[in-house]
Amino acid sequence: MNIESYIRSTKDFPKPGVIFRDFTPLLANGEAFKALIDQLKERFSNKKIDVVVGIEARGFVLASALAYALGAGTVLVRKEGKLPHATHSQEYELEYGSSVLEISRDAFEKGQKILVVDDVLATGGTLGATLKLIKENFSVSIEEILFLIELDELKGRQRLPEIPIYSVFHY
Ligand code: 5GP
Repeated sequence: MNIESYIRSTKDFPKPGVIFRDFTPLLANGEAFKALIDQLKERFSNKKIDVVVGIEARGFVLASALAYALGAGTVLVRKEGKLPHATHSQEYELEYGSSVLEISRDAFEKGQKILVVDDVLATGGTLGATLKLIKENFSVSIEEILFLIELDELKGRQRLPEIPIYSVFHY
């Protein structure tokens, strides 16, 4: 089945000049979503991942489905002020202004193997902040990073540290 055909590209969203890659049609189709998660399960099952980390908000959907398939846990990296327990936080730059990501202080156990997941790699700012948040506060092993979609021309990959990145689709 052609999973990629369920990714919709919308011009001029959220602002003029941007082509937004939208995978909600893929999520809405049971067969396509299952085929994607089955394929990813196959790809990552030999890594013995303990926890799949999802980045708010679309990363959550992929992370939780894949974690279930792998028999792993899921940890949420959230926007500021959403997590009830004590958190670690990391500020990062956006195109205009800045934002803050947070993670619970008790998110991981020492030595766990982690897979970090988000839907789209654009400039790499969101992932860079997530990696900093995890590396500076926890003693875990980040095994790999997974994106559904990588926007190649923004060169986000080049701004990130030497951790293997696997993107299912490239645009
Ligand atoms: P970055 O920090 O790499 O510049 O941007 C990545 C974040 O922005 C991701 O969390 C992603 O959800 C969102 N994003 C940027 N461009 C797109 C896009 O074309 N489609 C979707 N679905 N998300 C995008």
